[in-house]
Amino acid sequence: MGKEKKVPAVAYFCMEFGLHPDFPIYSGGLGVLAGDYLKAAADAGYPVVGVGILWRKGYTAQYINDAGYPYDVSPEYNYDFLKDTGVKVQVTIKQQPVTCKVWLTDHFGNVPLYLLDADLPENKEPWLTHSLYRGSGDDRIAQEIILGIGGLRALRALGLEIDLYHFNEGHAVLAGVELIREKISTGLSFEQALNATRREIVFTTHTPVPAGNEAHHHGALSYVGAYNGLSYEQMKQIGGDPFNMTVAGLKLSALANGVSALHGETAQKMWQQVGAAAPIIAITNGVHQGTWQAANIAHAYAQAEGLLQARQENKANLLAEIERRTGHVLDPNGLVIGFARRAATYKRGDLIFRNREEILPLLEKGRIQLVFSGKAHPQDEGGKSMVASIVAFAREFPGKVVFLENYDMRLGKILTSGCDVWLNNPQRPQEASGTSGMKAGMNGVLNFSTLDGWWVEGCAHGKNGWQFGDGYVGPDQDDHDLHALFHVLKNEILPVYEQDKAKWVKMMRASIKTCTQQFSARRMVDEYYDRLYLPLVAAERKIS
Ligand SMILES: *Cc1c(COP(=O)(O)O)cnc(C)c1O
Repeated sequence: MGKEKKVPAVAYFCMEFGLHPDFPIYSGGLGVLAGDYLKAAADAGYPVVGVGILWRKGYTAQYINDAGYPYDVSPEYNYDFLKDTGVKVQVTIKQQPVTCKVWLTDHFGNVPLYLLDADLPENKEPWLTHSLYRGSGDDRIAQEIILGIGGLRALRALGLEIDLYHFNEGHAVLAGVELIREKISTGLSFEQALNATRREIVFTTHTPVPAGNEAHHHGALSYVGAYNGLSYEQMKQIGGDPFNMTVAGLKLSALANGVSALHGETAQKMWQQVGAAAPIIAITNGVHQGTWQAANIAHAYAQAEGLLQARQENKANLLAEIERRTGHVLDPNGLVIGFARRAATYKRGDLIFRNREEILPLLEKGRIQLVFSGKAHPQDEGGKSMVASIVAFAREFPGKVVFLENYDMRLGKILTSGCDVWLNNPQRPQEASGTSGMKAGMNGVLNFSTLDGWWVEGCAHGKNGWQFGDGYVGPDQDDHDLHALFHVLKNEILPVYEQDKAKWVKMMRASIKTCTQQFSARRMVDEYYDRLYLPLVAAERKIS
């Protein structure tokens, strides 16, 4: 017994999954990563299942009003392709039973994804699973009860045998509390149950900014029902007081990871004072090649010819989309710089506009054209003002600066294959990974980024893209980076683009090579097995 080397079956919990633009149960990078992971696991034949929530109204659809300011709408989507498992599970929220229907999809080349749905007539609050990352703190706790406790009960009701539970970010930690409750109900003490549970859980942390790590007051947790039979003292032991979801993830797991080498170090420093916590290693994110690399680029790269032509086709496709959406016609010969990501202020989407003296002549001579996209969180007025300032520049320079509304996976794909250069300028070290750059790089769209997240590992300056700012951190980081940005743009990028097409193509090849080899989701899922799952299962075999 216990001798056979079985590949461990993993249940991967995440609040959001980005599998397809027409299935918008995601907000941004976290969800797209989770979707890419499920597809890569399917490609590799790993025994993984996903667990999430069916967000009937998605996250937010965000457009720009006449005054140039973002506003939100919540359409209701049609998810006809989902399969009904026939399974329903119950959780308790605010002392009321809440029934969740369990749906299944493997429609997108992914391993099975089970989705909980509380939108049923018997529930008092059927809207709890309508909108991702909206609503009050109590709503969030309720949603985390559905994901964690409901998700675990769904796995049990479906009769699935799971060896390990992978929590992708802290939203799912209540699944750990449910695992503990199960064990206590078979007669184990809390300490025994906690120790046994830890050996079944791995945890991925994503947020390098302390304020970004969700925490809840115990009063609210207890009131909404997150204690799940545990006591205040026990819950405090797991997540502290206030209850920090990342601390809980680290204390409930045996092994944890950050999502790039730099982020692994940052996370280790951030959480070093947490006792009885999992060690944090680094497993750099990757993106699903079949989803994100354009077919013509894959073909030209394999044939070792026609890359420039494929590039022009994809650029023409982007320019046609821009014309369709905005009426503006961009010049196919001028350099197109793209910037699309969540409009969080640390990403500094408006940085390039902060030096008008530098940017005006480049725009006026048509040497550069800028394409932006990104949504701010509906309650993030700072992010929304940043979008508004970019929109103001787009209105000042029509046809030279473009802002595309309602950033989603569809736009993401068109942009990361259609631009010439992909700009990223987060305030260091706040970008945990930054996967859109990997998508761009796989398409021969050259990265131009500060040394943060994955680019620290990926960048060979002047060979497969460019860095600027040399990884500088300081109170004057904005000025430092802004100066460096224009220096590299004018002295390195534009001369190659305008005068040395052969070098540009060579750099495209190098970029595609780097990103397909080092930053694919396939490499990432293999590393999850080799460095997180298998070591844990091996340790467990020794103990039992
Ligand atoms: C890839 C992707 C992201 C993540 O990109 P970052 O570089 O991490 O900002 C966010 N949103 C969408 C729609 C994406 O496709």
